[in-house]
This record gives sequence, C-alpha cells and structure tokens, in this order.
Amino acid sequence: MGAFWQNAPMSLVTLPTRRAALLTLGAGLAAPALVRAQGFRTDPFSLGVASGDPAPDGFVIWTRLAPEPLEPHGGMTLRPVTMSWEIGTDDTLRTVVQKGEAVARPELGHAVHVEVAGLQPDRPYWYRFNVGPERSQIGRARTPPAAGAPARALRFAVAGCQAYTDGLFTAFGHLAQEADLAFVYHYGDYIYEGRDSPTRWDWSTRRVQPVARRHVGQECYTLEDYRRRYALYKTDVDLRNAHAAAPFIASWDDHEIDNNWAAALDQDGTPPEVFAFRRAAAMQAWYEHMPVRAAQRPRGDSLQLHRRLAWGDLLSAHVLDTRQYRTNQPCGDGVKTGCPGQDDPAATLTGAAQERWLFDGLSSSRARWNLLAQQVMVMPLDRRTEPGAPEPVWNLDSWSGYRASRKRLVDHIVDRKLRNVVVATGDEHQHYAGEVRTRGAEGDLAAVEFVSTSISSGGDGVDIRPGWDRVLAANPFLKLVNDKRGYTVHEVTPDAWTADLKVVDRVSSPGGALSTRARFALAPNGRGLQSA
Ligand code: FE
Ligand code: CA
Repeated sequence: MGAFWQNAPMSLVTLPTRRAALLTLGAGLAAPALVRAQGFRTDPFSLGVASGDPAPDGFVIWTRLAPEPLEPHGGMTLRPVTMSWEIGTDDTLRTVVQKGEAVARPELGHAVHVEVAGLQPDRPYWYRFNVGPERSQIGRARTPPAAGAPARALRFAVAGCQAYTDGLFTAFGHLAQEADLAFVYHYGDYIYEGRDSPTRWDWSTRRVQPVARRHVGQECYTLEDYRRRYALYKTDVDLRNAHAAAPFIASWDDHEIDNNWAAALDQDGTPPEVFAFRRAAAMQAWYEHMPVRAAQRPRGDSLQLHRRLAWGDLLSAHVLDTRQYRTNQPCGDGVKTGCPGQDDPAATLTGAAQERWLFDGLSSSRARWNLLAQQVMVMPLDRRTEPGAPEPVWNLDSWSGYRASRKRLVDHIVDRKLRNVVVATGDEHQHYAGEVRTRGAEGDLAAVEFVSTSISSGGDGVDIRPGWDRVLAANPFLKLVNDKRGYTVHEVTPDAWTADLKVVDRVSSPGGALSTRARFALAPNGRGLQSA
C-alpha cells in the first residue's frame, strides 16, 4: 500500500465516488492502471471554470474537481490528481499557445489556481482544463494593454450579493451574454453563510416570504461547511457561465465569513481568539473557490485582499478590503440614528496600512481614471423613510459609521485635485448613483459612486421601496435609487465614463428579462454626474 500512495501525485487518479472507492478498496486495492480506466462517473468539472486578476502577460485560471459537489470532499478521493490545462487564441482551442500541468490537491479541496504568464497584452484568450478523458467547459479571459500603454476603451461589469435562497442567478446569465467584457469586479457576498430556512425577510414588501431555493445544511462554521456552500452556489449554471465569459476580480464583503464581521469581531460576542478559527476556515474556502493569485493565499486567519490592477493608461483599479482591518461598527451597528461613535477619530474602515497604500496609490497614479473597487457605501446617505422622522438614519456598517475615515479619504482626493475617481460599491441590494462631496450635497466633488444592486439578494424587488422617494428628496447628491436585481456595466474612454444600471424584471422564476434602468455619464473634470 505504501508504494501505491507514495507515487502521488499521479496522473489521472480519478476515483469517482465513495462507492467506487470502496469497491476498489474491497477488491484489495486495485492496480492504478485499473483505477485510471474507470474514470469519473459524473462530471468532475461540475463547478465550472474561472479566470481572474488579469495582467498584461496573463491571468489566473481556476477550477475545482468535484464530481459530487455537495458530498464530502466534492466526491473526490483524498489524493492529489494531476490535470492539464491549455490556453488558445480561439474559442474552440484550435490554436493552443500554452499548456501545462497542475496538481489538484486535497489540502485545497482539489482546487487549482494556475497563474498563466507569457501571453500577449490586450487580447482575448480561451482556456480549458482536462483530467483523463474529461474536459472542462472552455472559458474566455482577456489580457489588458501593457502597463501605461495608450488604451482607448474598456468595458467591465460590477456584480455581487448573490443569496442563493433569495432568487435565481438570472442576472448572471445575462451578464454572461454582455459583449466583450474586460472583467467583472465582484464586490462580495458571493455566498451567504446562513443556515437553511424555508423563509426569508423581504425588504421590498416588508414581509416574510418563502425562499426561492434552499440552502443545504446549517450555518457555515467549518472548512467543509464553507466548501459545500461555495459548491452549492457554483452548481448554478448562470454563475458558471458568467465566470466562463470574463475574468473576475474577486473581493469579499461580510457574508463570505459572517454577517457584518469587523476584523477580529463577529456580531455575536464570540471571543476573537475563537472567531479566528472560523475566519481561517472561511478564508481558505474563499481562496479555494476564487480565481486569485498566490498573493491572495490566506496565512492562517488573514489574507491580503487589497491589490491594484490596471488597464493600460486608462484605469487604475484599487481593490479595497473594508472588512478585515476595520474598527468595530459604532453605536452597536445597524441602520438607525447615529451616536458620537460615528465621529471617533480613531475609527477606520481600511486600517492605517491599507489607507496609506490607497493614498499613495491615488497620489502616484498616472491613469486617466481611478476606480475604488470596494464594498460598502461611501455617500453620507440619510435613510429616513418615515414622514416627520426627527433624526437622520445611517447605515452604521458603511462609511457613514466611520466618518473620520471617510473624511480622510475625501480630503486626500480633493487636496490632490483628483477629478477622476469613481467608486464601485455593493452590499446595499439596491442600485444607487450619486456623488461624494466634501459636505453632503455641497462642496468639492471627490468622487462619483455607483452602488450596484444585487444579483439575487432581496428577491424580485420593486422599482422603488416604500418611503425611498423621501430618501431621494432628502439627499440631493443621490441621483437614483432602484430596488430591482441586476448589475452595472461601465464603459470607459479617456474622456467619458458611462454606467448602465441593468435590472431583471424577476428572479423568483426563470426567464427574467433584462433592461437598462438608467444610464449615467461623467467626464474627468470634477463636474459630477449627468444623466445620459
Ligand atoms: Fe449582500
Ligand atoms: Ca454585505
């Protein structure tokens, strides 16, 4: 037996299911040749493929072998498996320009991350994984122009917040059909960690509603829990097709780990040294399922999420992590009237080191546009929906709970006279378009913010939630709010940034139709947001 296992990693060791494994063991541990001949009984690429973090010379390609996605270990026998990959210049891989081998290891749930390099800038590529006779679907990736090279146009999408329970991923199906996306920025809530429940709270109707689809299992705590949750989500064909259509720039928000977590703290009073174990499990599962580079591999219960990507001289994207280094939410968290803790000068949403990194990156950026690809709303939105409510209502988990942190960011942008900052945000489960200024709706413009609505979280939604016409009227820096599901598409040229706020008419049943709810434009001139 020793020699058999010491041969690992072996090519094409494809014990398919526990049943087959038991049969093999029952036969007195069959010879490897016989094992190979068996192959997988079900598609080992059930979780699809993905590419991510594009650079001028390459990108990450990802897959995870899981012939039985919801079974322990995805139905894999716990041994390393050597697989092959190929990169081509056409969508059928007739012309292969690179190929290689990668080992899917049980330590990482049989996920593989290949950092492909040596490719040409500014062109699409296609890729595929193979294991034995099994072939994955073919995915499309795209390299950006060379660093600093003139770039005339860029088209990308922003999406996230995909509660499997709340609705179908129809919006991802439409996103997969978008023409020539350079990348998809994912702002997080890729999974929701909660337990299976037949019902959910619905904000649009303010009622308990039945869920559209059921979670499997209890709330996620262990690595196997989170792995199974990612696998459940990736069984959705619309999500797989979105990954296959364009590289993702993955980040996270709270639900990859626990609702509204803040650095070492969850919201349940768990001792930090205990929460650290859950954080480590969740971070490993995130890494295993995202097409990210080795720089984003977790070290225990920490992981460097913030990083910069560029599109020639046109765009510098600063991907932020607004969870891992933040101070605790003030005033006991929530959406409610404020408290002095909102103005705590020591409060930070980014941590000091990431803040320095961001400010240095903004100051030294020579890109025509700077994108803050982050998670929670920057705009100082007063959310009073009741007539005559005397006090402003804040989302204390957003930048409005960390006003000193926001002021430092806004001041840095305005002091350096940057007129090219756009913020991409998620978390809110509504579309918002508006401006970030030094004093509410007054003062100098620091940035334009597009909050992308959810893929499915919140269910079908309504055009505007009850009372939100009052929110629009009370916050003149806000130009639009919309409570349907969807995503945004951004078209960037040296002289104009155009954002399409896309919505689907329903996610509770298949076939939801896509439309563009609004289009906004801005120029890099500090004049702010225009309807287009
Ligand atoms: Fe969410
Ligand atoms: Ca969130």
